[in-house]
Amino acid sequence: MAYQPDMLKYFALALDPIHVGTGGIRLGRVDMTIVREPGTNLPKIPGTSLAGACRTYAAMQENGKFSHCAGQGQPDTARGYQGHCGQPDCPICVTFGFAKGSGASFQGLAQFSDARLVLFPVHSLAGPVWVTCPGVLRDLGITESEPADGHVRVSGGVRASGRLNLGWLMLDAKTDFSLGDKLPHVPGEIKSRAVLVSDKMFGHIVNDNLEVRTSVSIDPSTGAAAEGALYTYEAIPRASVLYFEVVVSDPKFYQIAGQEPLKENGGKEKVKETLNNGFALFECLGIGGMNTRGMGRLKVLNLNAGGETGERGES
Ligand SMILES: [Zn+2]
Repeated sequence: MAYQPDMLKYFALALDPIHVGTGGIRLGRVDMTIVREPGTNLPKIPGTSLAGACRTYAAMQENGKFSHCAGQGQPDTARGYQGHCGQPDCPICVTFGFAKGSGASFQGLAQFSDARLVLFPVHSLAGPVWVTCPGVLRDLGITESEPADGHVRVSGGVRASGRLNLGWLMLDAKTDFSLGDKLPHVPGEIKSRAVLVSDKMFGHIVNDNLEVRTSVSIDPSTGAAAEGALYTYEAIPRASVLYFEVVVSDPKFYQIAGQEPLKENGGKEKVKETLNNGFALFECLGIGGMNTRGMGRLKVLNLNAGGETGERGES
């Protein structure tokens, strides 16, 4: 029997702006920047951020049974914290991996890709539209021809009348684009207002239309704004549609402490259930930074379907 891991494909809708920071502060237009793909410079949510939040929330959903597995790996007796249990029947450790002080470690059966932008909201005189490009769609198995320079291809729901502005850009528009029944998990209101731009233009439009907010640091001793503490941060805007994949390996090909993991409590289906348990809380608890400032909520659109098993589109 050939060994074939499952590829789960998830679409997600940003309910709030999402800030996953680079961890550094940059001098320039924006103080706190978000993570980008090196080649395209497009913002993304790293797979490690998805996995970390999913682990924490999945552990919460286990009703405290395995909650000691949610955080850092090393035990802390002073706090009564056990670290990762590393048990073969623990759905958290088996799904997300563990590292114990004794040297035992396991990579985890679920491997997360980065979440990438599929449809990005932009303001236009014709109302909000969502831009995408042939390169993004190709990764989802959809082939579309590239619009000519200075042109866009718009969907029927956009009243463009020959010209369409995307933020500051004014472009020639032709109504010959339709996502139809492709991307079935994406809401129809968004698909009917989709606009296809060239691959090159997509990166520019996204980076010109990121949410940038200004905030002040509060000095905790006075409760007032700390001096010189005005800073700006950027975020993936609300209503962005993102896509990510999770590869799930079958536990029966692995051994933890000499045992097949999750053998008695659900096997591979338990891994998928654990993922769904975690993703279900993205919608209310959010991911990334600044959740207390009304940021980070992400709705996984095909939660109940548990993703789709199958081949990845041309890549
Ligand atoms: Zn555990």
